[in-house]
Amino acid sequence: MLQGDPLSGILFNMVIDQVMRQIPDYLGFQLDENTLVNSMGFADDLNAITSTREGMRCLLQILDKLCPKWGLKFNAAKCRYLCMEADGRNKKMKVSTDCMFVINGSTIELVGVCGQWKYLGVYFSNNGIEPPKQMLNVWLGRLKAASLKPQQKFFILRNYRIPRLLYPLKMSPLSVTALNRLDGAIRKALTGTTGMLHLPSSTPKSFFYASVADGGLGVLCLRYSVPSMIVGRFEKLSTSNSSVVQAAIKEAAFAHRIGVARKFVLKVVGQDILAGAIRSYHRELLDSFIDTKGLVEAGKCPSVHTWVSDGTKMMTGENYCEALKIRVNALPSLSRTQRGMTSDRSCRAGCKAPETNCYVLQNCHKTHDIRVERHDRVHKRLSAFLSQRGETVNDNMTFVTMEGWRKPDVVFTTNEGTAHVVDVQIVGEYKDLDTLHKM
Ligand SMILES: [Zn+2]
Repeated sequence: MLQGDPLSGILFNMVIDQVMRQIPDYLGFQLDENTLVNSMGFADDLNAITSTREGMRCLLQILDKLCPKWGLKFNAAKCRYLCMEADGRNKKMKVSTDCMFVINGSTIELVGVCGQWKYLGVYFSNNGIEPPKQMLNVWLGRLKAASLKPQQKFFILRNYRIPRLLYPLKMSPLSVTALNRLDGAIRKALTGTTGMLHLPSSTPKSFFYASVADGGLGVLCLRYSVPSMIVGRFEKLSTSNSSVVQAAIKEAAFAHRIGVARKFVLKVVGQDILAGAIRSYHRELLDSFIDTKGLVEAGKCPSVHTWVSDGTKMMTGENYCEALKIRVNALPSLSRTQRGMTSDRSCRAGCKAPETNCYVLQNCHKTHDIRVERHDRVHKRLSAFLSQRGETVNDNMTFVTMEGWRKPDVVFTTNEGTAHVVDVQIVGEYKDLDTLHKM
């Protein structure tokens, strides 16, 4: 049977199960008075554990004797040993490097004090899983250099790279400083002239972390998400039926880990905010920054924001980045570039009004023609959509009312005979959508 054959996994499991079951009960590491662990298997990896050097030699001899029965051979070059012993004088655990273990006729290489090895996609050392800082830096460097559109790079980062940080972050010792640094590195990779999305570095954090449906970029905020994930994951262990898990969680280290994570879970008015509520926390923050105020209403029509995160090929990279800048008020209007200064901010087209993004897009005389064009395009699209749906569309009707002539954009009649009047309105962010709708 070849490597990669769908059957090889099942066959391997059948054999390795036999091997693991035949390791005698007197060898292993005592977790508590009733629970002993001597091996852990995952995929094609096998961890053998004993509490003494002699025990390990004995266990390896047994494996050497058992395995040839099924044609299984250990590759000593791919094996490593880590020996940790109590250092009574210093009341610490130390890594010993003077052992000698043999499997399949060859000696096994040791993992030293600073040694690391890669297992299941993450790096381990004698401290357990290593935090994934290096991994992130390598990925960000590769993504930046890749010849992809900005929206495609962002898609990969958001959907594949950041999630891969979660497992090592949940399993390694929690450090809020490290989480903040990772978050900072991710934001830095998206901002600035060399960043993937060219957003200004002053972009409010909540724009990155609010969900896409709420008008943000939907990037996972590690600082707030990881502690609550640790609490969730490790608390779940206490409901496990496995006697080994039950024995392991009695250890002080387990309570310590949950305790530390609990301390750093996001709290608002003294209450813990767990995974789901982190989203509303960031949504509410949008309101507190002038640049993201316009997005407060975005959650009312979540389906129109999908282009932000779906890696769309319909837009050029440049258009995508510019569209994001409009969202987050990052176009270089005078009120943005002169913020905090006393200089004149009146519109450069000669209007007697401050030059804000919203003013230029909605009121300035210079943009009047393109504003009309924008309105007409939406109107045309709506008519085309309704006709395609089989409605009877009339966009040239005039009504005489008590208040004078009224000429709505579109009047359409459904098959049931109900008539609907639709007026296209592209509004700024000065009032909430519901009020504007009623006007
Ligand atoms: Zn103007």
